[in-house]
Amino acid sequence: MAVKLNEDKALVAKIKEGLKARGGYCPCRIAKTEDYKCICKEFREQIADESFEGYCHCMLYYKTKD
Ligand code: SF4
Repeated sequence: MAVKLNEDKALVAKIKEGLKARGGYCPCRIAKTEDYKCICKEFREQIADESFEGYCHCMLYYKTKD
């Protein structure tokens, strides 16, 4: 299992900018709750899920199974 940044550097820069502007909360969601603080609950659960492979909701990160 590995978690990597998206290979699209322009997109990574944009999401990171959004995260910074929102004080570390997910730029792809409206609510500023603990569940949406990066790394958000949804992606933490996807990381823990052995069958999951793919991007987080914002596509900042990509998780591989092996
Ligand atoms: S892991 Fe991805 S979807 Fe979750 S808060 Fe961070 S950027 Fe947003």
